Amino acid sequence: MKAVAITFPSREVRVLDVPEPRLHSPTEVKVRTLEVGVCGTDQDILKGRHGAAPKDEDHLILGHECVGEVVEVGVHVQGLKVGDLVVPRVRRPCPHTRCPACRHGHPDFCVTGDYTERGIQGAHGFCAEFFVEDAAYLHRADDALRGVAVLTEPLTIAEKGLREVGHIQSRLPWKSVPGKALVLGAGPVAQLGAMALMRAGYEVTAYSRSPKPNEKAAASESIGVPYVSSKEVTVEALKKQLGGGVDVIYEATGASKVAFDSLNVLEENGVLIFTGVPGREEPLELQGAEVLGQLVLGNRVMFGTVNASDGDFSAALEDLARFRARWPGKVEALITQRHPPSEFAKVVEAKGGIKHVITFQEHAR
Ligand code: BGC
Repeated sequence: MKAVAITFPSREVRVLDVPEPRLHSPTEVKVRTLEVGVCGTDQDILKGRHGAAPKDEDHLILGHECVGEVVEVGVHVQGLKVGDLVVPRVRRPCPHTRCPACRHGHPDFCVTGDYTERGIQGAHGFCAEFFVEDAAYLHRADDALRGVAVLTEPLTIAEKGLREVGHIQSRLPWKSVPGKALVLGAGPVAQLGAMALMRAGYEVTAYSRSPKPNEKAAASESIGVPYVSSKEVTVEALKKQLGGGVDVIYEATGASKVAFDSLNVLEENGVLIFTGVPGREEPLELQGAEVLGQLVLGNRVMFGTVNASDGDFSAALEDLARFRARWPGKVEALITQRHPPSEFAKVVEAKGGIKHVITFQEHAR
């Protein structure tokens, strides 16, 4: 079968002809890949900042954002049948008994770092005509989500982040309305984060680099999220424009300067969620005393979030259905381009558009 892989150590992306995977255990499922999303992590892998091949192999099949269709189920598989649409999770637990997170079904909080991630770290991904996965790591998706379920994985980042905001803000039991939120960035993680924040009841504003008009700004505004360019409006001016600080900041740029600057628009008792991993940047000068003052004297919380658990995938699938009902056509519109597998490397470098997806649909039923 055809698979898009990166070779090691040369880090070249190639379409390889590899053996079709087979079921090895009665709880496994064989899936025909329909679509695979491409994201900044793929770029990091190609640039040599992240990623590893499976042990003793010289290539890694790429792709960690995926939707596919079940073509075969092991005899002990329950709840999935041939023809079902499925979305796989990314991370698999480490083997160590000393890792309480992995032993409790939360490899997203793994403490040893010995987890594997399909398509990223030590395990082949989904950018191939077929893949095999244990049913425990697959989520059944409603057929109505066929055209958007590839966005499930990037949405899980927001689901996990907002779940944690919920835990943190349970310290403010008197707060009756969620309040205001600021999303930093306007790429797919940001756009899906904005939708998740809206659905949680926040009044959301997007703050990103490019001045209007541009297609990311248009996508934000089409769901009622005002878009402000950081090139035109400083953080201080933004605070005035918003009539005060915000309760939650959802950072999805991976640019540390704008992330830390945004603390100036975070209200007392507010929460700043970091989701992006910066590439190589110039060292950042921080007024340490000022930042610590803002955190301590304002009870502000900053936290990072990575990967997502079983519950976050289920929540993301439920939310995709809600988003489609609330904003008809707008979730679909986030997928701005679909490409054949041979274009993976080109897509990673693509400028413009919102979400780029590799499609294997021509092989679908
Ligand atoms: C993926 C996560 C993964 C992280 C680090 C992100 O792009 O969404 O599932 O844990 O990269 O490898």
